Order: sequence, then structure tokens, then C-alpha cells
Amino acid sequence: MTDDKTAFLDAQLNDLREQGLFNHIRTIESPMDGRIVVDGREVLNFCANNYLGLANHPRLKEAAKRAIDQYGIGPGAVRTIAGTMSLHVQLEQRLAAFKGAEAVITTQSGFTANLATIPSLVGKGDVIFSDALNHASIIDGCRLSRATIVGYAHNDMDDLRRKIAETTEYGRRLIVSDGVFSMDGDIAPLPELVEIAQANNILSMVDDAHGEGVLGRGGRGIVDHFGLHGQVDIEVGTMSKAFGVMGGIVAGKQVIIDWLRQRARPFLFSSAMSVPDVAACLEAVDLLEESEELVQRLWANADLMKRELSALGFDIGHSETPIIPLMLGEAALAQQFSRALFEQGVFAMAIGFPTVAKGAARVFAMAIGFPTVAKGAARIRVMNTAAHTQTDLEQALAAFEQVGRSLGVIGG
Ligand SMILES: *Cc1c(COP(=O)(O)O)cnc(C)c1O
Repeated sequence: MTDDKTAFLDAQLNDLREQGLFNHIRTIESPMDGRIVVDGREVLNFCANNYLGLANHPRLKEAAKRAIDQYGIGPGAVRTIAGTMSLHVQLEQRLAAFKGAEAVITTQSGFTANLATIPSLVGKGDVIFSDALNHASIIDGCRLSRATIVGYAHNDMDDLRRKIAETTEYGRRLIVSDGVFSMDGDIAPLPELVEIAQANNILSMVDDAHGEGVLGRGGRGIVDHFGLHGQVDIEVGTMSKAFGVMGGIVAGKQVIIDWLRQRARPFLFSSAMSVPDVAACLEAVDLLEESEELVQRLWANADLMKRELSALGFDIGHSETPIIPLMLGEAALAQQFSRALFEQGVFAMAIGFPTVAKGAARVFAMAIGFPTVAKGAARIRVMNTAAHTQTDLEQALAAFEQVGRSLGVIGG
């Protein structure tokens, strides 16, 4: 018998299952790498955000072990009470120098970096201009702030200008955008966004989660990519993607970072990053400062995949980054494609519009930023990494070709 109070959850879970929105979570039984073991079998991994293969890098593992011997595991408190160790301070200084920012504050994750930043800068009576395809953590940060949220069409700077002109009642104002949009791999037009922000005296903020360690010289991020040092007020990032570890970054002017240390709630009321995480992130900065080789290999791998998938006859969208959307149209086809790829030893995720989703479940999925795409734009998302070898890529391409032909996506 179901408990009365939770019966609505059973109903909603069933709803999700019926509508193909239920998350079936696969368990990985190996280290995160270019090849992983899933359900007892080894597959080529094209799902992770482990762009540089650092999640299982020997130097990061060694650094984490050394730090544990020296400092233990946990910081034991929030940063402001007794949780700031010399390692945390070092990491923030190194990240600021690496990125060419005045200052950096770290948080437990990229998600909390947004929750820390947005409500500290704007509040009730203020206005946020937010790209329609922004990440869920930006959406939540905006909501927590209680500022008025004005959406603008994705990457549409004319619409942004219009929305700014139309919004006449405001206190402080903030423009916020993802740097790299994770579904299509396109990049925000940051130079124009910054110009608009400066012309209107509005704070500018970019969340560079998918660009950290990927874009810019040696992975220094989107601000470096566009040469906009000192011009973007806040650059949020994460160390859980290309850095292969865990932790959030907020980079910007000293005065903004100083303010976050006083006011950001996830910084004040949630404990600091753990010792091995911080040490591994420091080692990642070392690696990136020493050599651009991993970043170059990532881009070379992604370029090869783009070139070859396109030559096979696949529609690969308009990505400007190592994210490749293999456009398939219907969500059911994308799911079938993903299952067939898995049978061929390739793990790549299907992302689809919730075709049958209706009513509350659909509104819910859209509102929380559930990874969905426009109707008829379902796809396989191919996430590339420097951890793949030439052989891995050839093997993957053979699988894509076979599945593509057998499902009639490409000719022959
Ligand atoms: C992944 C992602 C995050 C969350 O980062 P975590 O470190 O995993 O919490 C935040 N913002 C964007 C744009 C992301 O893509």
C-alpha cells in the first residue's frame, strides 16, 4: 500500500516513465576516462564533460594523495569560521593568475557558484536579463535573488537591446549568459554582450562551465578566448568538467570577490572544498600552465570527429566547441540510435524534446532546465575528450557509420 502523503509522487514518477522523461541512471564501474566500464562491459565514453582526461590523471591523483597525507581530508568548517586552509587560498590566487582576473573565490561546485553570485549582486526591485537557454543553476540563482527576470531570445543581442529598452523600472541590472551552450556547442557573443552592458551601465556575467579548460589560450576560458580581460564583471566557472575534479570558480574584480566573501550564502553557510579536491585542482592549473598539449589534443580529436561524421553524411549542427550534436530529429530515433551505439561499444547520450510530455510534467521539465532541445531537434550529443586515442576515434566512427546506415540516417 502506498502512503497517502506520497501517492502523488508515484503518480508523477509514472508520468515521467510514460513520457520518456524518466532518468535511467547508469552506474560506472571504472575510473572516468576515454574508455569506461558500464554494466560490466567496456565502452568508449562520449558522455562525460571530462574534456582533458584529467579525472583519472596520474598527476592529479598523486597530488590529492600527497595533500591528504599533509592536510587530511576535510576542511571541517565553512570558509569564514575555520575552513579556509592555505591550499584554498593558493588555489584562488593561482586561478586568478591563470585566468588573468583580479581575484577569484572558489565554491563547492559550479552550481553553487551561481547560487552564491547572483543573489549577492541583485535583489528585489532589480532586473536580470537572462538568455533563454541558460543553465538550470543560473535560473535557480536568478530566482533566489528575487529580482525580476527578463528572458531574451537565445544569443540574440538585438532582442537583448530591445528588452533593456523596454524595461524601464529597475534598481540594479545584470545580464547573465552561459558562455558555451551545452546542447549545441555554440558560444555566447560575449564581445557584443559586454558592449551592450557597458553602454547601459549594466553588470555583465558569463557562466563558462563548458569553456573552462577548453576555450582560450591553454584553456584559460571564454574571457581569454575573446581577449576581454577586465571587461566582464563576473566569470563563473567549474572545476568539475575539464579540470576533472569538483568545485566552482567566480572570477572578477577584487571588489566583487570581496563582497562575495561577505555575502554569498553557499560560501558562508556550506563547508569548503575538500583537501584532495583542492590539491587536484591546483595540479590541474600546474598542468595547464606547463603545456597546451591536452587542450590541443581535445580540439584535434573534436575536429577529426566533426570532419569524419560530416563526411559520413551526418548533420552535426553548428557547434563552435568540442561538443558535437548529431542531429536526428525525433526523440525516439535518438534514443534508438543511442541504444544501438551502446551495443557497438559506444556510450553517447540521446537528448530529445519530450514529444509526448504534456501538461505539468512538460512545464516542469522546461522550467528546471531539464536537458531538452526544440521539437524535431533530438540528437546524440557527442562529448569529446583528450583521453581518446586515434584508435578510439576510429572505432567510434565505425560504430556511428554502422548504426547510421542500419537506422537509415545516412545513405548506403
Ligand atoms: C555543468 C554546469 C554547471 C554546474 O557545474 P558543477 O560544477 O557540476 O556544479 C553550471 N553552469 C553551467 C553552464 C554548466 O554547464
